[in-house]
Amino acid sequence: MRVIKSIKEMQNLANEAKKAGKRISFVPTMGALHKGHLELISEGRKRGDLLVVSIFVNPTQFGPNEDFNRYPRDIEGDLKKAREMGVDVVFTPTIEEMYPEGFQTYVEVSKLQNHLCGIFRHGHFRGVATVVLKLFNIVKPDVAIFGEKDYQQLKIIQRMVKDLNLEIEIVGFPIVREEDGLACSSRNSYLSHEDKECASTIYRALQEMKIEFERGQLSAREITEKGKRILKRAGIEEIDYIEVCDPETLESKQKATRGDIVAVAARIKGVRLIDNIKL
Ligand code: AMP
Repeated sequence: MRVIKSIKEMQNLANEAKKAGKRISFVPTMGALHKGHLELISEGRKRGDLLVVSIFVNPTQFGPNEDFNRYPRDIEGDLKKAREMGVDVVFTPTIEEMYPEGFQTYVEVSKLQNHLCGIFRHGHFRGVATVVLKLFNIVKPDVAIFGEKDYQQLKIIQRMVKDLNLEIEIVGFPIVREEDGLACSSRNSYLSHEDKECASTIYRALQEMKIEFERGQLSAREITEKGKRILKRAGIEEIDYIEVCDPETLESKQKATRGDIVAVAARIKGVRLIDNIKL
């Protein structure tokens, strides 16, 4: 496995792989790799000849009061896991090379970014779309894998690829969960054992909301009120949103239909967790 820091070196390697007729698959991450990341990597392994994983905690997608500084970092552990997964290249650029002095070009996916997390995390998706486009231009993948846990992110990347005519296949990968249902996330490491138990209520609430829909409840308000009650009963009071939304536009719905997404963002002891389920 090669570990590459330099952008030019990564681009040269990608160019050579392409010349040799290799298909490049790509899994972008912010590191602190967990079971969810590893399943994406395993999917990437199946879909390409040269598998590249990037590890970059991207400062431009964090707000000034967010957790950029304390975001979990474990490069040695990550490299070990990547090696075991059969990754060919780990790309870990520096902030200085990704955002040199004078950097001023950003990508905005203007409508999709104005829903759900976009309302609570100003500038977050502009940072995400920008870094992903940069990574695409450096790694030059044929296919890239993104998790459905970050559903809005996946939709934004798909839209960007379509709107900007990038020749990259975007694959959405189902949410990977702990045994108790909690969606795997690097941020789970901020939580104590008890907090994690409490956090698993988020998935239970999503399941209960889906059951409510299956029983014939179509009112998004009734469905989400049920979810809120479940979260509150478990002591989860800080709910950024619970919404039934259109799976493509992410617009909030009043009447639920099959295929809609129920999305939740809630804070447990200040740790912001997101999850979703398809109706
Ligand atoms: P991150 O390191 O959090 O930026 O995530 C890197 C990629 O892994 C993104 O495409 C995420 O959507 C995906 N991912 C993170 N957690 C999960 C999960 N529990 N299940 C599936 N994909 C995930």
